[in-house]
Amino acid sequence: MLHFLRMSAIEIRNLHAGIADREILRGLNLTIPKGEVHALMGPNGSGKSTLSKVIAGHPDYTVSGGEVLLDGENILGLEPDERARKGIFMAFQQPGEIPGVTIANFIRAALQARLPDGAELDAVEYYQRLYQEMDALKMDRAFTSRAVNDGFSGGEKKRDEILQLAMLRPPYAILDETDSGLDIDALRVVADGVNRLRGPELGALVITHHQRLLNYIVPDRVHVMVGGQIVRSGGKELALELEARGYDWVSGAL
Ligand code: ADP
Ligand code: MG
Repeated sequence: MLHFLRMSAIEIRNLHAGIADREILRGLNLTIPKGEVHALMGPNGSGKSTLSKVIAGHPDYTVSGGEVLLDGENILGLEPDERARKGIFMAFQQPGEIPGVTIANFIRAALQARLPDGAELDAVEYYQRLYQEMDALKMDRAFTSRAVNDGFSGGEKKRDEILQLAMLRPPYAILDETDSGLDIDALRVVADGVNRLRGPELGALVITHHQRLLNYIVPDRVHVMVGGQIVRSGGKELALELEARGYDWVSGAL
């Protein structure tokens, strides 16, 4: 019966974290239930990317209080790869380049890592699925033999990110968008990808500075972060209100 008490969600409770001795997240509370798409908005420097890195387990950040529960289990003591295997997919604002590792091999290794010991991914089925997903994303097949993010344009990085998401089908995804540098086509790729994967099996947090992306991904909930805390939460109309009134309006709520 215990599992009835556990929520299928990422639950962030009173999270305090920072870098060196500087606190950036200051008592943050946020729940992303499976089956919902939430948007996280906030002015530059409010700590949005820090939150995604702390959830991922980035070694530069120190957690000084609170917890991050994944389906009821605190993951803060786990290594980044364990968190990923438990089902948290991360797309960073500045994704790293992995010279020498092709996209096809990278995604294959990520899928293989989730299989039980001794199980082998079927190569033929893998490539069939990969090409299906690439066709859906209108990606050229030559793309698979390029090294991950090596010399990619902003739009190519986003396509690669959504391809990974589509192939891995994680229960939870956190997408930190540099929409400042994204043209409308790249925004559409992200939005179409998220919308296609939306459903009861996915909980997603879409981090964005601008309201623009949310014209394409209509979120179930919108949260506004200022100064390392969630200062306001609401429905999709909150994004429009922010667009009209600016972040000063919510900052005043602090
Ligand atoms: P956002 O993504 O909302 O723009 P960030 O999480 O990137 O905000 O940054 C929050 C604050 O933490 C900023 O003041 C930023 O300068 C600081 N910060 C983030 N990462 C680092 C870092 N690696 N070293 C020093 N300060 C950092
Ligand atoms: Mg950021």
